[in-house]
This record gives sequence, C-alpha cells and structure tokens, in this order.
Amino acid sequence: MDLSNSNTAKNLADAFAGESMANRKYLFFADVARKLGMTDLAKLFRDTANQETEHAFAHFRLLHPELVVEDTATLSDAEKQALAARCLELAIEGETYEYQTMYPTFAEQARTDRDGGALAEFQEQEAESREHAAIFRQAAHRFGLLTQIENHHAQQYTEALHALSGVVPQAKAAGADPATQKWMCLQCAMIYDPVTGDPDSGIAAGTPFEAIPEDWSCPICGATKKSFVPYAEAVAA
Ligand code: FE
Repeated sequence: MDLSNSNTAKNLADAFAGESMANRKYLFFADVARKLGMTDLAKLFRDTANQETEHAFAHFRLLHPELVVEDTATLSDAEKQALAARCLELAIEGETYEYQTMYPTFAEQARTDRDGGALAEFQEQEAESREHAAIFRQAAHRFGLLTQIENHHAQQYTEALHALSGVVPQAKAAGADPATQKWMCLQCAMIYDPVTGDPDSGIAAGTPFEAIPEDWSCPICGATKKSFVPYAEAVAA
C-alpha cells in the first residue's frame, strides 16, 4: 500500500520532525542546566532527550519500512549494500535540499528582513529594531555558511554511495597557496574561505587563515581557531 500521499504519512513525518527537534532542544537545555551546576536537571533533560530519540526512530521506521531489519544475519551482501545505498540516497536528498533550496531561500529572506529592520530603525530609532537587524544579519550570514557545509555533507555521502559500488574516491589534498586554501572547523564543519574572509567577525576578504587573530572563533559554533584543519579538496588526477 502506498502511504506517501496520505495524511497519516504526513503526520508521521511531522511527528518525526517534532520528536527530533525535542531531542536536540532537550540536549541544549541539558547543557544550560549543566553550566548552571544543576546536574540532576541536566540528567532529566538528557534522559528525556534519549526517550524522544526512540519516539522519533519509531515514527521513522513506519515512514521507511524498507530500512527496518529484524536480523541482519539473514541478509545477503547485495541486500546489505542496497540498504546502505538507500540510507545514503535519503541523506544526499536531505543535504541537497538544504544547500540548494532551504538555506539559499532563508538567507535571502534574512537579508530582506534585515533591510526592513534597518528601515524601521531609521524611522523609529528603536533599539529593538537595531537588535533585530543584527540578528537577521547574523542569520543571513549563518545560513550562507551552512549552505557550504550541507554541500560538503552531500559530497561526502555521494562519495560513500559511490564507494559502495566500488568506485575509488578521487584523491584529495590541501592546497599550497594560503590565499586560496580553505580551512574546516572540526566541530561543526564550517569552512573558512580566505577569498571571502569572515567580514561579520572583522576578518576582511582575502585574509589567509594563518593571518586571522588567535582569538577569532568559528562563526557557527564558537570553536577556537585551533579547531580548524586545512580543507582537502579533490585534485585533478
Ligand atoms: Fe564550528
């Protein structure tokens, strides 16, 4: 039976999204509680987050019954390969949507909202709208950075999918020119590109990574400069 267009299939997808979000939200709250020294509360949030993951998985199993395996010992190698390929296809689909559609659209909207906020500030001189404009500017910047990261994820999944069918991945190497060598945050995969710099953090376009001040931090996750490694890109054979 094809459930793909039913309301229940849509509700399952929404429930999966909601439970997934609750999981990350509670982990965030657990981190807040931990920093406040409230270890019991942190544990409550963490335990509940784990339960939400189980709820999300239960919904996902119904959404993707083709991925449910009771006993992997009964699978042939070809069946195992087909399952892994299906996971990678779904992952690529998600990441591609994020970098091709979601983040570009969100970045454009944030830029429009920022302009609207700046205009309101000019008209009303409200500190609040100045604050909003700054948040929208940050959001536009972050959405732009995430576009690159999701593209990177999609590429990694695509390579893994190709590897399943025996395709040898293209050789990768860091470049030799600091003016074009990108660096990647090990914590969140933010990619620093010296060509564009990080103007929102005061790093001008054209600044090689090595020339960034040591107190600079990742604009996405706040990791220190030391958390970055040279980003290896595919080299022509
Ligand atoms: Fe980061």
